[in-house]
Amino acid sequence: MSHVNLVTGGAGFLGSHLCERLLARGEEVLCMDNFFTGRKENIKHLLGNPSFELIRHDVTEPFFLEADRIYNLACPASPVHYQHNPVKTIKTNVMGALNCLGLAKRVRARVLQASTSEIYGDPEIHPQVESYWGNVNPIGPRSCYDEGKRVAESLFFDYFQQNKVDIRVIRIFNTYGPRMLINDGRVVSNFVVQALRGEPITIYGDGSQTRSFCYYSDLLEGMIRMMDCEGFNGPVNIGNPGEFTILELAEAIIQITGSKSKIERKPLPQNDPTRRKPDISLAKEKLGWEPSVPLHEGLKPTIAYFDGLLKAL
Ligand code: NAD
Ligand code: UDP
Repeated sequence: MSHVNLVTGGAGFLGSHLCERLLARGEEVLCMDNFFTGRKENIKHLLGNPSFELIRHDVTEPFFLEADRIYNLACPASPVHYQHNPVKTIKTNVMGALNCLGLAKRVRARVLQASTSEIYGDPEIHPQVESYWGNVNPIGPRSCYDEGKRVAESLFFDYFQQNKVDIRVIRIFNTYGPRMLINDGRVVSNFVVQALRGEPITIYGDGSQTRSFCYYSDLLEGMIRMMDCEGFNGPVNIGNPGEFTILELAEAIIQITGSKSKIERKPLPQNDPTRRKPDISLAKEKLGWEPSVPLHEGLKPTIAYFDGLLKAL
């Protein structure tokens, strides 16, 4: 069956790749974005497609349209951008979720929330399983994002229980790839751009903190499988369980780019999680999903993308 999909945040890094994949499946896509961190450039090549429609709209304002599937991705994902206007970040998460759920209830759509590993905060359990409730500072600099995403999850499950809305919740772990912004501020894009420019690689803290990096194509496969899946609402972790220190990431990027960049230490931001790695047993069991692109493989096309962008400047 062909679907009409609403993708909020559809002009962003993950959203634009998602729109592309859904169109490739022969489905209709309504792409909604306010262009805070999204770019027209990301979806320019889709504009001529009759199955694609771009809607400039802010998810904090109600919207009325017809769709049978809603992917709610609208929210800046990089700490630099989500901390720029924390009140707006909370509004985007909470009111964006309410507006998506309200629409889903009215038109009986299935609705998927792009939640995050940040709901685990600075985790005391490693690797993180879905049953872990998290360790989040409710008043720290990351709380606008972490708590906003946590409320969104609550709303999703409340609409499920109270109104029988057909929800799906995935918890995305650090995902990278082409179409991240040059000034995105997240670690992979920062290090790649710094290495290509021969600038110092900025390591926050001693670089011993870990993250697990998932290539965008693997992530999208998990996301779409979750949307397609019957009888399972989640939450489910979607991420790559390969765990690397930030120093190891810097070394890998220096090695692949052949850069002469040196490492520069900067202060560790407040409440920066020390370890992060998904337990993906549930995704394997329920969705038959696991990532296939190791970090070194995914870094190559990502580096090539940024190289092209920097050369065109
Ligand atoms: P991104 O910043 O590239 O994309 C977010 C998109 O949402 C942008 O196009 C932005 O303009 C749009 N947006 C922001 N506020 C909006 C608003 N009020 N109304 C309409 N549009 C708005 O980030 P991304 O990495 O593509 O992340 C997409 C989603 O996945 C986000 O919800 C993010 O929290 C979630 N996520 C991403 C990661 C990751 O590592 N990439 C990890 C966990 C969760
Ligand atoms: N980080 C870093 N240098 C940078 C950007 C980020 O050392 O230029 C670190 C950051 O402190 C964190 C990790 O890299 O420990 C991942 O940061 P990112 O902003 O990508 O995402 P997070 O997982 O923290 O939301």
